[in-house]
Amino acid sequence: MAEPAALGGRVVAAHGRHYDVEIEDGSRRQCYTRGKKAGPAVGDQVRVRPEGRQEGVILDILPRRNLFYRSDAQRSKQFAANIDQLLLVLAPEPEFSDDLMGRALVAAASAAVPALIVLNKADLPGAAAARARLATVESLGTPVLMLSALDTDQVRNLLGPRLQDRLTLLLGQSGMGKSTLLNALVPEALAATQAHSEALGTGRHTTTRTQLYPLPGGGGLIDSPGFQAFGLQHLSAHDIEQGFPEFAEPIAECRFYNCTHRHEPGCGVLAALERGDIRAERHALYMRILAENEAARRY
Ligand code: GDP
Ligand code: ZN
Repeated sequence: MAEPAALGGRVVAAHGRHYDVEIEDGSRRQCYTRGKKAGPAVGDQVRVRPEGRQEGVILDILPRRNLFYRSDAQRSKQFAANIDQLLLVLAPEPEFSDDLMGRALVAAASAAVPALIVLNKADLPGAAAARARLATVESLGTPVLMLSALDTDQVRNLLGPRLQDRLTLLLGQSGMGKSTLLNALVPEALAATQAHSEALGTGRHTTTRTQLYPLPGGGGLIDSPGFQAFGLQHLSAHDIEQGFPEFAEPIAECRFYNCTHRHEPGCGVLAALERGDIRAERHALYMRILAENEAARRY
Protein backbone atom coordinates (compact mmCIF):
# COMPACT_ATOMS: atom_id res chain seq x y z
CA MET A 1 0.00 0.00 0.00
CA ALA A 2 1.32 3.45 -0.88
CA GLU A 3 2.25 5.83 1.95
CA PRO A 4 -0.38 8.55 2.42
CA ALA A 5 0.84 11.94 1.18
CA ALA A 6 2.25 14.31 3.82
CA LEU A 7 0.02 17.22 4.88
CA GLY A 8 1.09 20.74 5.79
CA GLY A 9 -0.16 22.30 9.01
CA ARG A 10 0.53 24.44 12.05
CA VAL A 11 0.98 23.30 15.65
CA VAL A 12 -1.78 24.92 17.72
CA ALA A 13 -1.39 23.09 21.03
CA ALA A 14 1.33 21.17 22.81
CA HIS A 15 1.07 18.98 25.83
CA GLY A 16 4.02 16.79 26.61
CA ARG A 17 4.80 14.92 23.42
CA HIS A 18 1.31 15.34 21.99
CA TYR A 19 0.53 18.11 19.57
CA ASP A 20 -2.66 19.37 17.98
CA VAL A 21 -1.98 20.30 14.40
CA GLU A 22 -4.32 22.42 12.33
CA ILE A 23 -4.05 21.03 8.82
CA GLU A 24 -4.18 23.38 5.86
CA ASP A 25 -7.69 22.20 4.97
CA GLY A 26 -8.92 23.40 8.39
CA SER A 27 -9.19 19.96 10.01
CA ARG A 28 -7.29 19.07 13.19
CA ARG A 29 -5.17 16.07 13.97
CA GLN A 30 -3.60 14.81 17.18
CA CYS A 31 0.02 14.22 16.33
CA TYR A 32 3.15 12.91 17.90
CA THR A 33 6.83 12.84 17.04
CA ARG A 34 9.18 9.93 16.65
CA GLY A 35 12.71 9.72 17.94
CA LYS A 36 14.56 11.87 20.40
CA LYS A 37 14.82 15.11 18.44
CA ALA A 38 13.54 18.27 20.13
CA GLY A 39 9.85 18.44 19.32
CA PRO A 40 7.98 21.26 17.66
CA ALA A 41 6.71 24.38 19.41
CA VAL A 42 3.29 25.96 19.18
CA GLY A 43 3.26 28.15 16.07
CA ASP A 44 5.55 25.81 14.13
CA GLN A 45 4.73 24.92 10.55
CA VAL A 46 5.07 21.17 10.18
CA ARG A 47 4.58 18.30 7.75
CA VAL A 48 2.40 15.49 9.02
CA ARG A 49 1.91 11.94 7.83
CA PRO A 50 -1.76 11.16 8.49
CA GLU A 51 -2.70 8.09 10.51
CA GLY A 52 -6.34 7.09 10.49
CA ARG A 53 -8.87 9.90 10.44
CA GLN A 54 -7.69 12.04 13.33
CA GLU A 55 -4.07 11.33 14.07
CA GLY A 56 -0.67 11.78 12.52
CA VAL A 57 3.08 11.70 12.86
CA ILE A 58 5.05 14.94 12.64
CA LEU A 59 7.68 14.32 9.99
CA ASP A 60 9.51 17.62 10.08
CA ILE A 61 9.42 21.22 11.18
CA LEU A 62 9.77 23.98 8.61
CA PRO A 63 12.40 26.68 9.20
CA ARG A 64 11.33 29.10 11.94
CA ARG A 65 11.36 32.87 12.03
CA ASN A 66 11.98 32.74 15.77
CA LEU A 67 11.80 30.38 18.72
CA PHE A 68 11.09 31.17 22.37
CA TYR A 69 11.97 29.28 25.52
CA ARG A 70 10.24 29.32 28.86
CA SER A 71 12.16 28.76 32.01
CA ASP A 72 10.77 25.93 34.11
CA ALA A 73 12.47 24.99 37.36
CA GLN A 74 16.01 25.92 36.23
CA ARG A 75 15.49 24.48 32.76
CA SER A 76 14.70 26.19 29.49
CA LYS A 77 12.09 24.60 27.30
CA GLN A 78 11.21 25.73 23.80
CA PHE A 79 7.50 26.36 23.48
CA ALA A 80 6.51 29.03 20.95
CA ALA A 81 7.67 29.82 17.44
CA ASN A 82 7.04 32.20 14.56
CA ILE A 83 5.46 34.90 16.68
CA ASP A 84 4.95 38.48 15.49
CA GLN A 85 4.87 40.24 18.85
CA LEU A 86 5.08 39.79 22.60
CA LEU A 87 2.33 41.07 24.87
CA LEU A 88 3.41 41.56 28.45
CA VAL A 89 0.59 41.96 30.99
CA LEU A 90 1.48 44.00 34.09
CA ALA A 91 -0.63 45.46 36.89
CA PRO A 92 -0.28 47.80 39.87
CA GLU A 93 -1.07 44.88 42.17
CA PRO A 94 0.29 42.41 42.88
CA GLU A 95 3.45 44.39 42.27
CA PHE A 96 5.12 43.50 38.98
CA SER A 97 8.77 42.60 38.79
CA ASP A 98 11.18 44.90 36.90
CA ASP A 99 13.52 41.96 36.60
CA LEU A 100 10.98 39.74 34.80
CA MET A 101 9.85 42.62 32.64
CA GLY A 102 13.44 43.40 31.63
CA ARG A 103 14.06 39.75 30.81
CA ALA A 104 10.95 39.59 28.65
CA LEU A 105 12.13 42.64 26.72
CA VAL A 106 15.51 40.97 26.23
CA ALA A 107 13.85 37.82 24.87
CA ALA A 108 11.79 39.87 22.41
CA ALA A 109 14.55 42.23 21.32
CA SER A 110 17.12 39.47 20.81
CA ALA A 111 14.66 37.80 18.41
CA ALA A 112 13.81 41.16 16.77
CA VAL A 113 10.17 40.73 17.85
CA PRO A 114 8.35 43.89 18.99
CA ALA A 115 6.97 43.97 22.52
CA LEU A 116 3.86 45.68 23.81
CA ILE A 117 2.97 46.24 27.47
CA VAL A 118 -0.57 46.21 28.78
CA LEU A 119 -0.79 47.88 32.15
CA ASN A 120 -3.91 46.17 33.41
CA LYS A 121 -6.16 47.08 36.36
CA ALA A 122 -6.17 50.74 35.30
CA ASP A 123 -9.17 51.11 37.60
CA LEU A 124 -7.02 50.63 40.71
CA PRO A 125 -5.59 53.65 42.58
CA GLY A 126 -2.00 52.40 42.14
CA ALA A 127 -2.22 52.56 38.35
CA ALA A 128 -0.55 55.96 37.93
CA ALA A 129 2.42 54.97 40.08
CA ALA A 130 2.79 51.72 38.13
CA ARG A 131 2.74 53.69 34.90
CA ALA A 132 5.53 55.90 36.23
CA ARG A 133 7.63 52.78 36.83
CA LEU A 134 7.28 52.03 33.12
CA ALA A 135 8.57 55.42 31.97
CA THR A 136 12.05 54.12 31.18
CA VAL A 137 11.01 51.17 29.01
CA GLU A 138 8.37 53.29 27.35
CA SER A 139 10.91 55.99 26.48
CA LEU A 140 13.12 53.24 25.07
CA GLY A 141 10.42 52.27 22.60
CA THR A 142 8.00 49.77 24.15
CA PRO A 143 4.40 51.00 23.86
CA VAL A 144 2.30 50.91 27.05
CA LEU A 145 -1.50 50.59 26.94
CA MET A 146 -3.46 51.16 30.13
CA LEU A 147 -6.73 49.33 30.43
CA SER A 148 -8.93 47.21 32.60
CA ALA A 149 -9.38 43.61 31.49
CA LEU A 150 -12.70 43.59 33.34
CA ASP A 151 -14.00 46.02 30.72
CA THR A 152 -14.38 43.78 27.67
CA ASP A 153 -15.32 46.61 25.30
CA GLN A 154 -12.25 48.58 26.30
CA VAL A 155 -10.03 45.55 25.75
CA ARG A 156 -11.45 44.96 22.30
CA ASN A 157 -11.25 48.63 21.28
CA LEU A 158 -7.78 49.40 22.60
CA LEU A 159 -6.07 46.10 22.08
CA GLY A 160 -8.04 44.50 19.25
CA PRO A 161 -6.43 46.52 16.43
CA ARG A 162 -2.94 45.76 17.79
CA LEU A 163 -3.59 42.03 17.67
CA GLN A 164 -5.28 41.87 14.29
CA ASP A 165 -3.59 39.50 11.83
CA ARG A 166 -0.61 38.92 14.11
CA LEU A 167 0.50 35.99 16.19
CA THR A 168 0.96 37.33 19.71
CA LEU A 169 2.62 35.56 22.63
CA LEU A 170 1.06 36.39 26.01
CA LEU A 171 3.17 36.69 29.12
CA GLY A 172 2.27 37.69 32.65
CA GLN A 173 3.25 36.99 36.22
CA SER A 174 0.52 35.30 38.15
CA GLY A 175 -2.25 37.66 39.29
CA MET A 176 -1.67 40.35 36.64
CA GLY A 177 -4.93 39.47 34.88
CA LYS A 178 -3.63 37.53 31.90
CA SER A 179 -6.50 35.00 32.03
CA THR A 180 -9.07 37.76 32.37
CA LEU A 181 -7.59 39.50 29.35
CA LEU A 182 -7.43 36.31 27.32
CA ASN A 183 -11.05 35.52 28.11
CA ALA A 184 -12.13 39.02 27.08
CA LEU A 185 -10.49 38.47 23.71
CA VAL A 186 -11.24 34.79 23.16
CA PRO A 187 -14.29 33.62 25.09
CA GLU A 188 -13.60 29.98 24.13
CA ALA A 189 -10.29 30.12 25.99
CA LEU A 190 -11.81 29.65 29.43
CA ALA A 191 -13.85 26.68 28.32
CA ALA A 192 -10.82 25.14 26.64
CA THR A 193 -8.55 25.38 29.70
CA GLN A 194 -11.25 24.05 32.00
CA ALA A 195 -12.05 21.14 29.72
CA HIS A 196 -8.39 20.26 29.56
CA SER A 197 -7.91 20.38 33.34
CA GLU A 198 -10.92 18.15 33.78
CA ALA A 199 -9.58 15.76 31.16
CA LEU A 200 -6.44 15.49 33.24
CA GLY A 201 -8.59 14.71 36.22
CA THR A 202 -6.99 17.41 38.33
CA GLY A 203 -10.01 19.68 38.56
CA ARG A 204 -7.53 22.53 38.94
CA HIS A 205 -6.87 25.20 36.38
CA THR A 206 -3.16 24.62 36.38
CA THR A 207 -2.07 23.01 33.18
CA THR A 208 1.08 23.25 31.12
CA ARG A 209 -0.76 23.00 27.84
CA THR A 210 0.48 25.72 25.52
CA GLN A 211 -2.24 26.75 23.14
CA LEU A 212 -2.79 29.00 20.13
CA TYR A 213 -6.21 30.66 20.11
CA PRO A 214 -7.30 32.07 16.76
CA LEU A 215 -8.78 35.57 17.07
CA PRO A 216 -12.20 36.19 15.55
CA GLY A 217 -10.87 38.97 13.27
CA GLY A 218 -7.69 37.15 12.15
CA GLY A 219 -4.44 36.59 14.00
CA GLY A 220 -3.97 34.56 17.15
CA LEU A 221 -2.85 34.50 20.77
CA ILE A 222 -0.50 31.95 22.28
CA ASP A 223 -1.08 31.29 25.95
CA SER A 224 1.10 29.05 28.03
CA PRO A 225 -0.42 28.67 31.50
CA GLY A 226 2.11 29.17 34.26
CA PHE A 227 4.52 30.91 31.90
CA GLN A 228 6.14 33.71 33.90
CA ALA A 229 9.69 33.92 32.66
CA PHE A 230 11.59 33.35 29.45
CA GLY A 231 14.55 31.02 29.26
CA LEU A 232 17.44 33.19 28.11
CA GLN A 233 20.32 30.80 28.48
CA HIS A 234 20.82 30.31 24.76
CA LEU A 235 21.55 34.02 24.28
CA SER A 236 25.02 35.46 23.72
CA ALA A 237 26.24 38.72 25.25
CA HIS A 238 25.48 40.41 21.95
CA ASP A 239 21.90 39.03 21.95
CA ILE A 240 21.35 40.25 25.51
CA GLU A 241 22.55 43.74 24.56
CA GLN A 242 19.64 44.04 22.12
CA GLY A 243 17.27 44.16 25.08
CA PHE A 244 19.02 47.30 26.35
CA PRO A 245 18.50 49.87 23.63
CA GLU A 246 20.03 52.55 25.87
CA PHE A 247 23.39 50.75 25.49
CA ALA A 248 23.41 51.15 21.70
CA GLU A 249 25.01 54.59 21.48
CA PRO A 250 27.57 54.10 24.27
CA ILE A 251 28.63 50.77 22.74
CA ALA A 252 29.98 52.66 19.76
CA GLU A 253 32.54 54.14 22.18
CA CYS A 254 33.78 50.78 23.54
CA ARG A 255 37.48 50.29 22.84
CA PHE A 256 37.17 46.54 22.21
CA TYR A 257 34.80 45.22 19.56
CA ASN A 258 33.95 42.23 21.79
CA CYS A 259 33.53 44.31 24.96
CA THR A 260 31.06 42.73 27.42
CA HIS A 261 30.61 46.01 29.36
CA ARG A 262 31.53 44.55 32.72
CA HIS A 263 35.04 45.61 33.56
CA GLU A 264 36.81 46.34 30.28
CA PRO A 265 38.93 49.50 30.07
CA GLY A 266 37.57 52.07 27.64
CA CYS A 267 34.01 50.71 27.87
CA GLY A 268 31.43 53.22 26.62
CA VAL A 269 28.60 51.56 28.54
CA LEU A 270 30.43 51.75 31.86
CA ALA A 271 31.25 55.40 31.13
CA ALA A 272 27.56 56.11 30.44
CA LEU A 273 26.65 54.28 33.65
CA GLU A 274 29.15 56.44 35.55
CA ARG A 275 27.67 59.62 34.08
CA GLY A 276 24.14 58.45 35.02
CA ASP A 277 23.00 58.12 31.40
CA ILE A 278 22.32 54.44 31.94
CA ARG A 279 20.33 53.45 35.00
CA ALA A 280 22.17 51.29 37.54
CA GLU A 281 19.30 48.74 37.83
CA ARG A 282 19.32 48.23 34.07
CA HIS A 283 23.05 47.57 33.94
CA ALA A 284 22.73 45.28 36.98
CA LEU A 285 20.03 43.28 35.17
CA TYR A 286 22.27 42.96 32.11
CA MET A 287 25.08 41.68 34.35
CA ARG A 288 22.79 39.12 36.05
CA ILE A 289 21.55 37.65 32.77
CA LEU A 290 25.08 37.46 31.39
CA ALA A 291 26.40 35.77 34.56
CA GLU A 292 23.56 33.21 34.53
CA ASN A 293 24.24 32.31 30.92
CA GLU A 294 27.92 31.83 31.58
CA ALA A 295 27.16 29.64 34.58
CA ALA A 296 24.73 27.57 32.47
CA ARG A 297 27.38 27.07 29.79
CA ARG A 298 29.87 25.66 32.32
CA TYR A 299 27.63 22.63 32.86
P1 GDP B 1 -3.65 35.76 35.96
O1 GDP B 1 -3.05 35.02 37.10
O2 GDP B 1 -2.71 36.75 35.37
O3 GDP B 1 -4.27 34.90 34.93
O4 GDP B 1 -4.77 36.69 36.62
P2 GDP B 1 -6.37 36.60 36.60
O5 GDP B 1 -6.90 36.91 35.24
O6 GDP B 1 -6.79 35.33 37.22
O7 GDP B 1 -6.70 37.84 37.53
C1 GDP B 1 -6.23 37.94 38.87
C2 GDP B 1 -7.21 38.76 39.67
O8 GDP B 1 -7.21 40.11 39.20
C3 GDP B 1 -8.64 38.27 39.56
O9 GDP B 1 -9.25 38.38 40.82
C4 GDP B 1 -9.26 39.21 38.55
O10 GDP B 1 -10.64 39.37 38.72
C5 GDP B 1 -8.54 40.49 38.88
N1 GDP B 1 -8.50 41.41 37.74
C6 GDP B 1 -8.18 41.12 36.45
N2 GDP B 1 -8.24 42.22 35.69
C7 GDP B 1 -8.61 43.24 36.50
C8 GDP B 1 -8.81 44.64 36.29
O11 GDP B 1 -8.69 45.18 35.19
N3 GDP B 1 -9.14 45.37 37.40
C9 GDP B 1 -9.27 44.81 38.63
N4 GDP B 1 -9.58 45.61 39.64
N5 GDP B 1 -9.09 43.51 38.86
C10 GDP B 1 -8.75 42.73 37.81
ZN1 ZN C 1 31.72 48.07 26.64
